[in-house]
Amino acid sequence: MTRMIFLGAPGSGKGTQARQLCEKFGLAHISTGDILRKAIKEETELGKNTRRYVDGGELVPDDIILGIIKEELTGSDRGFIFDGFPRTHAQAEGLENILNELGMNIDRVINLQVGDQAIIDRLVARRLCRSCGFEFNLKTRPPKQEGICDRCDGPLFQRSDDNEEVINNRLDVYREKTKPIEDFYRARGLLLDVDGGKGFEEVFDSIVEMVGTA
Ligand code: AMP
Repeated sequence: MTRMIFLGAPGSGKGTQARQLCEKFGLAHISTGDILRKAIKEETELGKNTRRYVDGGELVPDDIILGIIKEELTGSDRGFIFDGFPRTHAQAEGLENILNELGMNIDRVINLQVGDQAIIDRLVARRLCRSCGFEFNLKTRPPKQEGICDRCDGPLFQRSDDNEEVINNRLDVYREKTKPIEDFYRARGLLLDVDGGKGFEEVFDSIVEMVGTA
């Protein structure tokens, strides 16, 4: 069973790639960012407790995130891709404990690498479909009709944390807290570096090839 982690800075394309790969291989797409945004929108207890972190581009405390992950994995019998988790060393350690308890393990960690300026350009132009989650970019992949999803006619929106100030903070947080966990997975022989600076299809094909052969 395939169980993977997608690592990469915000805007590296990991969400889009992970979603597409899950569709192709019938895997569960587990995005902690999506789970938090849904909770915030629905104003649940989780949403009320985490909104201030998400809005400021800060990390939500590890114990809250690990609680979400444990709930997602308990009773799950499908392969999955983690998108945006783990983001700290403590989360990576906590994940190992949860997986051990459940008798599971991670097979691969895909590390998408993209330069900072390309990331900022991508994120400020990013628009998402409220209904199906499909991602557009006003410059490189614009919707056919302004504000409307090509795939499902759902309304498009811009994430509140996709503005330049919060993006810069998210990149700082990434460099300081998340990038170091590359070494955690490299030491375990699980990390596969992918050049995420190319077009979507090219990146997708190289991931499919790596997943098939690694
Ligand atoms: P993302 O959609 O992955 O870019 O996540 C959006 C925001 O949700 C982040 O900027 C954090 O505030 C929060 N978040 C998502 N995943 C995590 C995580 N694993 N640990 C801490 N905070 C997270």
